Amino acid sequence: EGQRHRRMKEAHQIAAEYYHHMLLHTEDGEEALQYLEDRGFSQTLIEDYQIGYALPTWDGLTNLLTARGFDLAEVAESGLLIQREQDGSCFDRFRGRIMFPIRDESGKTIAFSGRIIEASTSEAKYMNSPESPIFHKSQVFFNLDKARASIRKQHKAIIMEGFIDVLAAVRAGIPNVIATMGTALTPQHVTKLKRLVEQVIICYDGDGAGWEAAKRAGELLQQSRIKAEVAVLPEKLDPDDYVKQHGATSFKEDIIDKPHTYIAFVKMHARRGKNFQFDNDKMQYVQEVVDLLVHNTSPLERDLYIRQLADETNLSEEAILATLRQKESDEAQRSKRQQQKEQFTPVVVTHQ
Ligand code: ATP
Ligand code: MN
Ligand code: MN
Ligand code: MN
Repeated sequence: EGQRHRRMKEAHQIAAEYYHHMLLHTEDGEEALQYLEDRGFSQTLIEDYQIGYALPTWDGLTNLLTARGFDLAEVAESGLLIQREQDGSCFDRFRGRIMFPIRDESGKTIAFSGRIIEASTSEAKYMNSPESPIFHKSQVFFNLDKARASIRKQHKAIIMEGFIDVLAAVRAGIPNVIATMGTALTPQHVTKLKRLVEQVIICYDGDGAGWEAAKRAGELLQQSRIKAEVAVLPEKLDPDDYVKQHGATSFKEDIIDKPHTYIAFVKMHARRGKNFQFDNDKMQYVQEVVDLLVHNTSPLERDLYIRQLADETNLSEEAILATLRQKESDEAQRSKRQQQKEQFTPVVVTHQ
C-alpha cells in the first residue's frame, strides 16, 4: 500500500514537471503563459507553485509515463489518466488546461486542478482530479504545505474559496492563507485546523454562495471552539478581484485586518433584504440571530447582542431574552427526546 501511494505521487511529480515545462518552454504554452501574466502571475510565483500547461493532445502524459515504466492502470486510478473500458488503454485526463498542482502537507503533489483559458459554455471552468487513494478532497487544503509555518507563527489561518484567491493573497504578501478544493469546509478540515490554530478568518467570495458558505463554515469552526471571524468583501468581488481592483495594501488593511466577528457577520447577512417597518421581517431577524446566540456565545456576548438587538428593532430586551430562553428549552427538550429514543432503540448488529 505504501509503495502504491509512493508510485502514484511519483507519477504526479513527473506530471507536474512535464506540465510546467510545457508552459514555460513550448510554443503551445505561450497563450497560457500570457493568460497567467495578464492575471498578474509573476515568473517566481509560477515557479514556486510549479504551475503548468497540459497540451490539448490525448496522450502526451500517457506516453511519458509509459516510457518511464509506470503501470498505467495504477496511474489512472490516481486520476492523471483515464482508462478506456473497451481495451484498457489510457489517455490523458487533463487536456488544454492551465495546471495547478495540489500538494499535501509535506509538499508532495497529489492532484491537479486545471483551468480552461477561454470562457466556454460547454466545458467546466475548473476540472479537478477525482477522489483517489492519494487525494481526499474533504481533507485537503491548498497551500497548507507553504502556509503552515506562518499559520503557526501568527496563530491564525485565513481560508478562501478558490486557490486562485490564495495565490492572489500570497502575491499581496499574505502567507498564512489556504483554500479547500472546491468543496465546503468539512469536519475533517476543521479537525486538521484545530491542531494548528485557535483562530480562523473566513474570506469567501462576495456573493450569495460565498455568504452562505461563510455562515456554515463559521458555525462548524465555532462548534469546535475555533474562533471564527469573517473578512467581508464588497458584493461581486472575490479576493483575487479585490486585489486587482483596489491593490494589495487595501486588501490587507481594509479587508483582512478588519474582520467582523462571526455574529456580526451573520447579523449583517440576516438583515439583508429585510425592512424593519414590517413586523414579520423584524421578528424573523430576531429569531435568526437568537438561534445563533443559543449555540455560539458566552454569557457576556449574549448580553451584548441582546442589547444590540433591542436597540436595532425597538423590541424589549426582556422579550428577546424570553425568545432565547424559549429556544433553549425547545432544544433541551429535543435533545432529551433524542437521548430517550437512542436508549430504547435496540442495537441491531448486521453481519455481512
Ligand atoms: P477564477 O478567478 O479563475 O474564475 P475562482 O476561484 O474565482 O476562479 P470560483 O467560481 O469562485 O472560481 O470557484 C471557486 C473554487 O471552486 C475554485 O477554486 C475551484 O476549486 C472550485 N470550482 C469552481 N468551478 C468548478 C468546477 N466547475 N468544477 C470543480 N471545481 C470548481
Ligand atoms: Mn465563488
Ligand atoms: Mn471566485
Ligand atoms: Mn476569481
